[in-house]
Amino acid sequence: MLAGEHVHLTADAVYGRAQQLLPEISLATVYNTLNELVDMGEVLEISTGDGPKRYDPNTTAAHHHLYCVDCGALRDVTPDGLDRLALPTSERHGFELVDVDVVFRGHCPDCRSTEPAGSPAPPDHLTTAPPAT
Ligand SMILES: [Zn+2]
Ligand SMILES: [Zn+2]
Repeated sequence: MLAGEHVHLTADAVYGRAQQLLPEISLATVYNTLNELVDMGEVLEISTGDGPKRYDPNTTAAHHHLYCVDCGALRDVTPDGLDRLALPTSERHGFELVDVDVVFRGHCPDCRSTEPAGSPAPPDHLTTAPPAT
């Protein structure tokens, strides 16, 4: 039910879609199935810090995410250099690393355009582009 689409659905959204195919399916079944898919590595679980977890079927290409803190939009991104992101042995606390998951947070273009004028400007070092006029 996730295959072939590059989207980041919440469990509730997956449930809604599954119900169209299997009207008698329960939300618990959907959660269990998602957990199994995550365990099998078929689906990535993305925690954005707040809001519900998202499930990402794009497991073929390593990627990171860009998250809008206003509307929850989530996009795949492949930042420069992060495939070489290294954690020194002294920082690993004995862990064997299997994955790294980076979420960039910000305001998407839709949300930026609806921001009220006069909202506090971000600090200079976070500004990547001149403000739109
Ligand atoms: Zn947004
Ligand atoms: Zn993704």
